[in-house]
Amino acid sequence: MIPVGEALDLILGEVKPLGYERVPLLSSLGRVLAEDITATISNPPLDNSAMDGYAVRAGDTAGAVDGRLVSLKVIADLPAGNILREKIGTGEAVRIMTGAPVPDGADAVVMVEYTERTESGGEKSVRIAREASPGDNIRRAGEDFKVGDAVIQKGHTIRPAEVAMLAATGKPFVTVYQRPRVAVLSTGDELVDIYETPTDGKIINSNSYTISAQILACGCEAVQLGIARDRREDLEEKMRSGLNSDAIISSGGVSVGDFDLVKEVLRDMGSEMHFWKVAMKPGKPLAFGTIGGKPAFGLPGNPISSMVSFEQFVRPALLKMAGRRDIFKRSITATLTKDVKKKAGRVNFVRAILEPSGNGFRVTPLEGQGSGIISSMVKANALILLPLEETSFSEGQVINVHPLDESLLYSDNPSDELIS
Ligand code: AMP
Ligand code: MG
Repeated sequence: MIPVGEALDLILGEVKPLGYERVPLLSSLGRVLAEDITATISNPPLDNSAMDGYAVRAGDTAGAVDGRLVSLKVIADLPAGNILREKIGTGEAVRIMTGAPVPDGADAVVMVEYTERTESGGEKSVRIAREASPGDNIRRAGEDFKVGDAVIQKGHTIRPAEVAMLAATGKPFVTVYQRPRVAVLSTGDELVDIYETPTDGKIINSNSYTISAQILACGCEAVQLGIARDRREDLEEKMRSGLNSDAIISSGGVSVGDFDLVKEVLRDMGSEMHFWKVAMKPGKPLAFGTIGGKPAFGLPGNPISSMVSFEQFVRPALLKMAGRRDIFKRSITATLTKDVKKKAGRVNFVRAILEPSGNGFRVTPLEGQGSGIISSMVKANALILLPLEETSFSEGQVINVHPLDESLLYSDNPSDELIS
């Protein structure tokens, strides 16, 4: 048996990021940036007003308060997107809208709420009720980013914030890593298609759907190779058709049963094949090889063993192929709400419910930890990580946990938002 970390290291040593492609900005959402982005414009381009109000020379407003207004001559009205050619002189002001460039001569903006517009004999004036200091309500040119600034690095996943930056820097197209296309093959004589009614000891091929969902959930594309029967020729033929994709994942047929042929077929196909008994539960058997440089994963057939093995070994590999650098799942700590026991010698991944509690989290293991029990996986939002050699864990103990999804971040209870 080899440790989980050793198997993962070996796998990651064999996979590398795919090529690049250029896509329209909005299609880049969720993709991994394959170029460093340098600003070719500054934001904001010019000093501009952060408020609707009056651009003034701060010195002219000295001593202005509610009871003692200072009157200034209004020489122009300035909407956003326009530049004033004249300079503001002593005793003058410009009506200015949010975003409009601050005119020469002005060094502050007084909010419209502290002003009163007057007009007499065609002369426009404004009375100011607040003393301004230089810089008030002015957004400085380049305060966000300047020409030449490195604004996003290669390897970043593009979220709406990155889209904002790419749009603001004038990039209608971006270079992203190719999305891995991953072929999925289920193996077993007992499997029937989802549209069939399973009889005579048959079961529905759920793994093809599960694995495909996991592939999609990490931003890759899934290609269906269907079901291979437990015969060498069928397995090899279907595996070969997977070589059009960037990676192949099979499930089933990797243990030590009479019909577990995946290892031999991978070897026959010319891969340097590793077959490991990984020190983990669920998910002990794992085959891994590369065929023509393409990674092939033989996952175990039991639905939860397959899911957990995917999470542990395939997901980081696919994320690496997709160009990401943040490929490892962070664990968080939580307080165990029940005693738990296990055998020494394997890391256990225990399906559990993780909830916020006090300053941290509490975690409760679920009933039904068998590697075929899908119902407990549906209830779980986390896996507790029980270390290799330890055997007993007590209520109140702080323990490492991998959240499985975003369910921790969302709630159906409005009071969880804690906005007051
Ligand atoms: P195997 O590793 O092929 O012996 O399969 C282990 C267990 O997983 C058996 O009980 C299989 O019936 C089950 N299994 C294998 N492949 C699938 C699949 N595609 N969908 C659901 N269960 C499966
Ligand atoms: Mg089988």
